[in-house]
Parts: sequence; structure tokens; C-alpha cells
Amino acid sequence: MSKYLSLLVLLLLGTGSFGQAPPPKVLLFYSLNVEADHVLFATDALRFFAEQADKHGFRVEATSNWIEMNDENLKQYSLVVWLNSIPPSAQQSAFERYMQNGGAWLGFHVAAYNDSNSRWTWFKQFIGGGAFGVNNWPTLPAKLIVDDTESPVTSGMPKSYLSPTNEWYSWRPSPRLDKNIRVLLTLDPAQYPLGIKGLITEKDPDVPVVWTNTKFKMLYMNMGHGDKIFTSPTQNMLFENGILWLLRKD
Ligand code: ZN
Repeated sequence: MSKYLSLLVLLLLGTGSFGQAPPPKVLLFYSLNVEADHVLFATDALRFFAEQADKHGFRVEATSNWIEMNDENLKQYSLVVWLNSIPPSAQQSAFERYMQNGGAWLGFHVAAYNDSNSRWTWFKQFIGGGAFGVNNWPTLPAKLIVDDTESPVTSGMPKSYLSPTNEWYSWRPSPRLDKNIRVLLTLDPAQYPLGIKGLITEKDPDVPVVWTNTKFKMLYMNMGHGDKIFTSPTQNMLFENGILWLLRKD
């Protein structure tokens, strides 16, 4: 192959992962009227998604208006992302239909938050049946174990890594107990107690951090608090792999 032909091949590859037009579209939901550390995360995430969109040839749009989560609007998106909030009840059934019809979802941090006051039972099953247990304070980096090295989402990752400062949530019961849940990353219990107050301890022996419900095209990631989340190249690879896996039609 001549070097000119090789260059041409590289240029063609450079047009993005998704080849044919039209490129897939991603819709990011974010809120500004939430905890400051969750706004900081969302701001960094908007930038990260824009970079990934350029690199891989998908399109990204962002909104803070949950009204946009309706049947008609969702039809145009291959992936819906909740960066730092949860939809109001009026928008919930449109999301259920979107997921049941083959849509894809990525939720960060508070996106899976639910407690005894939460009435969206479909969603609780969707994320593996766990209610919020406790979160550590202060926010801390944490060692994460990559449970599942076979998944395309963890491709190229080491068996464990130090994840940048985050507020970690425990879940009761652990989503791992749900037969539909496949856990990809877990908080390493060797570092317990994690925090000074709001401790994560042996009371929560199993704290999954990233998982998927195999009945859907979805990923939940507990990262999402503060301005350090995107400072680890290893973790950024996890996010990148996750986005690409969710956008893939298979
Ligand atoms: Zn938080």
C-alpha cells in the first residue's frame, strides 16, 4: 500500500466510529438548581461529552428542561444521559417506554438516588432494587475493583485503580443480588471505613459502583460529585468505553 493510500485510509477512519450518516445523537439532562458539587460535575461532563462527540462522530445536545423527555422528542436520540438529577413524575412513563423500545441510558451519581419516599417502582427495579444507604464524608478518592474485565465497558482497564475524589453511595440491598444486574466495578472493602462521618463500613459489605441491568441497554455509574471526576485517564477510558457501548446497536 502506498503511503498516500494509507493516509487516505486513516482519514476515512478519522470520520468517526459510526461511519454512515446520520450520526447518533445523545441527549444530556443536567440541572443547575442542585448541590454545587453536582453542578461542577455536570459542567465538566458537558465538556467531556463534547470532546467524545468530536472524537467519535456522534452528536450531543444538552438540556435542563425535563419536558424534553417526552415520547416524540426521545425518538431522535440513541442515548439519554442524566448527569445530576432525576425526572419529575410527569416525565417518567415516557422514559420507561423509551427504554422498553430499545433506548439507551447512562446515569451518574444522584441519577439512581431513591429512598423510602420514592414512588417510581419501575425505576427502582430498573437500577437493581437498591435504595440509597449512606454516603461517605468528606468526599474521597477510592480504590475500585474491576469485577468484570470481559465487558466492552471495562476493556483495557487494570484490575483495580484509584478513582478520583467522589462522594460514594452505598445501596441497600446491593444491586448485585438482583439476577438481572451485572456489576462491573465495586468499591474495594479493604479501605473501609471510608470517610469520617457518613461512613461506609462493614455494614455495607458490597458497594457496587458501576453496573448494568442486562434487560436494558443501560449503565449506572456512581461517579458524579465535584470537579475531579474527569482527572483520571483510566476512569475516562471507562466513561468513553461506556458511551460507545451504549451507542452501539447490538
Ligand atoms: Zn454528591
